Amino acid sequence: MAFINFKSIRKKIVPHNSSEKFNELVQSFANLPSIGKKTALRLAYTLLENHTLALKLAHNIENAVRFIKPCQKCGNLSENELCEICSDENRDKNLLCVVQSAKDILILEESGSFDGLYFIFDEISDELVLKLRNFISENACKELIFALTHTINSDALIFFIEEKLKDFHLHFSKIAQGIPSGVSLENVDFISLHKAMAFRTKIKE
Ligand SMILES: [Zn+2]
Repeated sequence: MAFINFKSIRKKIVPHNSSEKFNELVQSFANLPSIGKKTALRLAYTLLENHTLALKLAHNIENAVRFIKPCQKCGNLSENELCEICSDENRDKNLLCVVQSAKDILILEESGSFDGLYFIFDEISDELVLKLRNFISENACKELIFALTHTINSDALIFFIEEKLKDFHLHFSKIAQGIPSGVSLENVDFISLHKAMAFRTKIKE
């Protein structure tokens, strides 16, 4: 039987580099979602081997962080004060979809299943409630659709928002239950997302 040197295998998977700057770079990648130590190392080596690629990436990150801000109205990411969706007169203003992040807006937009407006509700705060109330008044929205990742907290959030918007007499609905509990929108395929939006269920008043 061939002798396996586990020590050398381990060394290959987790190479050691004594440069503090290198380790910091690796750590920065490893802090990102879905990036493990191995991938972080590979990315760091790739960038150090290709300076043009590395500097372009650094430049793009800096530009994105400096110039992309939350839309003043809905919280979506935008280079302008108002995002493209809020400034688009052709959107159906009767429909307002409440999501938890700008990423969810991107996913719903890519799926093409919704042509109304969005509002990002990512924390329970009076300030955000006020913003949402103003948004609904300004756009005269009629139906509010919750497109939240289904968890125990999402039910509490729906209840909270409904209570705060009682006086608007809106129709409340949430995307259909085809989406499994705890699975975020980014992990749902477009067909399921279409169905979930088309067969959204009315929330009992
Ligand atoms: Zn907006």
